[in-house]
Amino acid sequence: KFITFEGGEGVGKTTQIRLLTERLAARGINCIKTREPGGSPGGEAVRHVLLSGAAEKLGIGPRGEAILFAAARADHVDTKIRPALDRGQWVLCDRFMDSTRIYQGEHTDVPQGLVDILERIAIDGLRPDLTFVLDLRAEIGMNRANTRRTKGEIADRFEREDLSIHKNRRNAFLQLARQDPARCKVIDASQTVDEISFDIWQIVERELLL
Ligand code: C5P
Ligand code: MG
Repeated sequence: KFITFEGGEGVGKTTQIRLLTERLAARGINCIKTREPGGSPGGEAVRHVLLSGAAEKLGIGPRGEAILFAAARADHVDTKIRPALDRGQWVLCDRFMDSTRIYQGEHTDVPQGLVDILERIAIDGLRPDLTFVLDLRAEIGMNRANTRRTKGEIADRFEREDLSIHKNRRNAFLQLARQDPARCKVIDASQTVDEISFDIWQIVERELLL
């Protein structure tokens, strides 16, 4: 099974992936954690170009950037996700195609048609069985993300984002989830870590284990 975690910055995706991995392992299910952009050696190299500020310094525009995100995903799908699924492992991924629909789609002037084509090329038919959209008030997520970013990786560009961008993004994730309710489950990420983990687990049990 292939499960993705989506949502804005600072909503707790990474923590919840770790907790779900532990719960699955306790059930004897062999799973791997991975992330986007990145996940595979090639994908991580592209991630570095995109998030270190290098892409911006080189003057790579939104279209070139969207294609790089797609290239990273294609490599990740081909060299890591699909091989793991073929071996019978479950794959839990921190961000996937929905992040692209929002970060490369909604918030740039890249035409929607191109974003759609790139998605199709990159995922190559591999759709998540289940997607958790972790939802949190934009103020909280933004503050958490800003504290974290002082540690490093993310380029200045993302630090210049204001609250309205975070609010738009939150709404865009919610709207996207409403369009595909069978796959996308919205989780209240303002709860405690344990409560969130329990909500996620109940859905995984109901949808994928029972
Ligand atoms: O929050 P996470 O560690 O996943 O952050 C990666 C960063 O990459 C995000 O802050 C987001 O701004 C950016 N990103 C993006 N487009 C994607 C995925 C991530 O711009 N498709
Ligand atoms: Mg994270």
